[in-house]
Amino acid sequence: MRRKSANLFQEAQRYLPGGVNSPVRAFRAVGGCPFFIERGEGARIFDVDGKVYIDYVGSWGPLILGHAHPQVVRALQKAVERGTSYGAPTELEVTLARGVTEALPSVEMVRFVSSGTEAVMSALRVARAYTKRDKIVKFAGCYHGHVDSLLVKAGSGALTLGIPNSAGVPQAVVKETITLSYNNLDQLREVMEAVGGEVACVIVEPVAGNMGVVPPRPGFLEGLRELTHQYGALLIFDEVITGFRVSYGGAQGLYGVRPDLTCLGKIIGGGLPVGAYGGRQAMMEQVAPLGPVYQAGTLAGNPLAMTAGIETLNLLRDEGVYRDLEERGRALAEGMEEAYRRANLSCCLNRVGSMWTLFFTQGPVQDERDIERIESKRYATFFGAMLDRGISLPPSQFEAAFLSAAHTSQDVAITVEAAQEALQVVSPE
Ligand SMILES: *Cc1c(COP(=O)(O)O)cnc(C)c1O
Repeated sequence: MRRKSANLFQEAQRYLPGGVNSPVRAFRAVGGCPFFIERGEGARIFDVDGKVYIDYVGSWGPLILGHAHPQVVRALQKAVERGTSYGAPTELEVTLARGVTEALPSVEMVRFVSSGTEAVMSALRVARAYTKRDKIVKFAGCYHGHVDSLLVKAGSGALTLGIPNSAGVPQAVVKETITLSYNNLDQLREVMEAVGGEVACVIVEPVAGNMGVVPPRPGFLEGLRELTHQYGALLIFDEVITGFRVSYGGAQGLYGVRPDLTCLGKIIGGGLPVGAYGGRQAMMEQVAPLGPVYQAGTLAGNPLAMTAGIETLNLLRDEGVYRDLEERGRALAEGMEEAYRRANLSCCLNRVGSMWTLFFTQGPVQDERDIERIESKRYATFFGAMLDRGISLPPSQFEAAFLSAAHTSQDVAITVEAAQEALQVVSPE
């Protein structure tokens, strides 16, 4: 029993909607009571009831170095003594901006904001201002933060007008949003033939991470680049997860496709609240005070967040980090695959480097329709059985799990062993 967590969760629900500040934390998709965290260290988190877990949530992506990396912590301790916010420029912003532009050749100029949501919202504004067009194309199953115009479900036909899938989003706000199927270039081609001249941008997670991990099919990203170029629309890569995750140069580096605008967040804040959007100079010159696109932030470029980001990127510059992540990722995937085969379950493990999802379906899982067919009860059982064995996975079938540089091969072996037992209690289809 996690008694302290249970008590805290009960009280939390009096003051916070659902007891949390972000919905998936409430464990609704897997049932049971979320555990409250006391501290994190390396690959492990410790809850208020004294239980320890190997953590594959990693704060939902930012913690590629693991929890409380000593070098990041030391830098933050020094920074905090100099003050926590000035509302005036610092050298730290220049340093991190230089680091980001060096890592991503498509990004010549960057603006820091305080969250991924803000980054996406602002990038859309820039795209619309630059192209003087209103329509935006997104893909079902891709999440781009809680931006009003992107909280849209797929319509039945490619040209169906958007239907908001959140209350409080006016129809008028999403009527310029077109939602297509992930990995489906034919649909985009059709839409572009019909209304390409009105499309400001196509926004995509270059590796989808928010329906569980769904990699781009070979040619998908290249096709997006070609079609947007052909119709004068901008291509926006939402690399809030993939930036500095799937390679130091993000998904654009890994797949060799250069977007016009890039959204970042998560890792570039090293665990502090950050987002960023950037791209070619001509586009970023649209942004105030240089241009007519207004966008501002009281805590934007915050010195603590910049410090954590700078230290994190410094540590990631060592290529060995990504080689090790790939190696551990492969070992984990192979171990899991053997485990579900041995348990006579048909599963599908999707992985790109250190981001992965074990789907409880035969697979392949390539788009949101494959996702919609998955019955997530079996994942919930697996999740609970893993938690009992000291392994913390994302509390939803439709979220990516993350390895960090702090996960050792022994951690991976412990995890695979736990999975072998846990999968025994999952019923076949
Ligand atoms: C997390 C995420 C966002 C939103 O970032 P927040 O910091 O949570 O606002 C946007 N896009 C993608 C791809 C994400 O994974």
